[in-house]
Amino acid sequence: GNGDICMVTKPPPTPSPLRFSKFFQPTMRILVTGGAGFIGSHLVDRLMENEMNEVIVADNYFTGSKDNLKKWIGHPRFELIRHDVTEPLLIEVDQIYHLACPASPIFYKYNPVKTIKTNVIGTLNMLGLAKRVGARILLTSTSEVYGDPLVHPQDESYWGNVNPIGVRSCYDEGKRVAETLMFDYHRQHGIEIRVARIFNTYGPRMNIDDGRVVSNFIAQAGRGEPLTVQAPGTQTRSFCYVSDMVDGLIRLMEGENTGPINIGNPGEFTMLELAETVMELINPDVEIITVDNTPDDPRQRRPDITKAKELLGWEPKVTLRDGLPLMEEDFRLRLGNPRMN
Ligand code: NAD
Ligand code: UDP
Ligand code: UDP
Repeated sequence: GNGDICMVTKPPPTPSPLRFSKFFQPTMRILVTGGAGFIGSHLVDRLMENEMNEVIVADNYFTGSKDNLKKWIGHPRFELIRHDVTEPLLIEVDQIYHLACPASPIFYKYNPVKTIKTNVIGTLNMLGLAKRVGARILLTSTSEVYGDPLVHPQDESYWGNVNPIGVRSCYDEGKRVAETLMFDYHRQHGIEIRVARIFNTYGPRMNIDDGRVVSNFIAQAGRGEPLTVQAPGTQTRSFCYVSDMVDGLIRLMEGENTGPINIGNPGEFTMLELAETVMELINPDVEIITVDNTPDDPRQRRPDITKAKELLGWEPKVTLRDGLPLMEEDFRLRLGNPRMN
């Protein structure tokens, strides 16, 4: 196939792969923790497109599902392991994309102690694995490390404004410790690390009852229910379509910079504007209602992506108006609606 031709004319970009398959093609063995989740499964799809890659997913299915990976189950270059990252994992890999962690507030607040363990012990274990086998490891950190930011937009040099004892802290502080562990293993043990700070991401395969704002509004519009804007509705977020996110993560892994690097779409919207856009594009017949908010909700959030542009040559391509209809199509199929409007 193409792999043979590539091998002769164009060696793969990453130097000295550890293993060779039976045809002496260098292969890259890649672990994706949390690969059965929303972003992880899209990342797996992209990695599997490259015939040089073998992909191993480790996931405990807390918020992810085998369904997201069904097209790869049984593929010779793919392996799925039911595994909780808070337990040690002994395998041989060249790269680790470490995503395992619930990302939606309702799920990460459900068992906060488990969320902290996943972030801290889970990341420690993946770093121990990276150290033992000499793998490069990428952490999907979050814009939540900036907390309720006092700097706008947020660039990577900002240290954040995080409540250490609030209901979101298991996630925010958990990710902050995970970043600390990454940099300490890098400085102390010379591990090759990459840290991405992901801003709100949306797209097909989000859990319908995930609780995050874009999936809530699209599911509500599909069911003909009111769109629930949490007060005051003037709080902002910046939404990145999942294909852009995956592209950014792979560029970061393959590039030479440790990060942290913001990956997100700088298009910023109030939650009221988002509701109005969903209404306009998906179902003009629903109403918008205001409901109570949850504690410590950040008031504004927008990434400064100067670093990603300069260091990774990356910027998002899909606007919110283009991305929402793509997601609607997937939700419509899963909700069993023939058409939403
Ligand atoms: P998701 O909840 O869809 O996926 C997380 C996956 O991790 C799931 O498959 C879940 O089953 C698995 N998991 C959770 N705990 C685990 C454990 N202890 N052991 C093994 N597997 C475990 O979330 P997502 O949106 O795909 O997010 C992926 C990563 O990106 C997370 O690390 C998240 O913090 C980060 N992130 C996401 C966003 C976003 O907007 N989606 C924003 C910032 C950061
Ligand atoms: N670890 C792992 N897989 C490995 C190597 C280590 O899960 O292949 C775990 C190990 O159980 C430990 C953690 O990673 O809890 C940190 O490992 P490290 O070697 O850095 O520290 P130590 O074992 O010396 O505490
Ligand atoms: N939000 C909303 N309606 C909902 C769910 C969330 O207005 O049904 C708001 C929430 O108050 C927050 C924003 O949307 O200001 C983003 O929330 P989400 O849980 O999606 O992500 P995060 O807070 O982690 O950025």
